[in-house]
Amino acid sequence: MPPFVQTTHAQESPHCQILSENFQRVRQRIADACQAAQRPSESVHLLAVSKTKPIEDVLCLARCGQGAFGENYLQEALQKIAQAPELEWHFIGPIQSNKTRPIAEHFAWVHSVDRLKIAQRLSAQRPATLPALQILLEVNIDQETSKAGFAPEALTEACHEVLKLPNLRLRGLMAIPQIRQTLAEQRAVFEQMQQHLAQLQEQFPEAELDTLSMGMSGDLEAAVYQGATWVRIGTDLFGQRAYPAP
Ligand SMILES: *Cc1c(COP(=O)(O)O)cnc(C)c1O
Repeated sequence: MPPFVQTTHAQESPHCQILSENFQRVRQRIADACQAAQRPSESVHLLAVSKTKPIEDVLCLARCGQGAFGENYLQEALQKIAQAPELEWHFIGPIQSNKTRPIAEHFAWVHSVDRLKIAQRLSAQRPATLPALQILLEVNIDQETSKAGFAPEALTEACHEVLKLPNLRLRGLMAIPQIRQTLAEQRAVFEQMQQHLAQLQEQFPEAELDTLSMGMSGDLEAAVYQGATWVRIGTDLFGQRAYPAP
């Protein structure tokens, strides 16, 4: 007999054990919110937002069963993708038009398409060997002058144009609303997003507009109540970020 019994898994670092507990807690929050909203729990996907966090943290969550990761900063993202190309990578940050090619080449999804020119470039630069790039239109839901995104009244025309692009698969909408304190206020702004998507679904019945990317660590529950299909969680999975990001 050996002096101690080896477990089947390699021993995880203490930090990875913390991340694993965070992961279970976030999963439980999603499950609870789905139950409260009378939605099937598989209808909400978790995007783990790993910006500023090391690849070790990503690989730890991947071993816990997490498959989709969101990144905001291109150079940082490309380094991580090179080390874990088997994971599903989503770009969720601001996009400069001269940076679209590596995004088109290395990601499965882009949540932050905020103008037509970006969509056109992503379609033109998507390699033919890859499936169509899944994209969401970012909505400037609070109509903030400092924020990117389509104004709600511009969405119909934007969809009309984006649906013509051959190498993109338009799936829905994304928003980053201003912080609101109460659940009721959070739900009210997400409800507007839900209504914008419903209107587009009516206007473009042939498109597969089934996706709402909304809800972060502080407003996940409100987003699930209002139909979110991707919640984007950073802090509550990986811990606080040190700013400024690289
Ligand atoms: C950083 C970020 C998140 C995650 O936010 P947390 O509050 O840390 O959960 C989600 N979405 C976008 C677009 C982000 O930039």
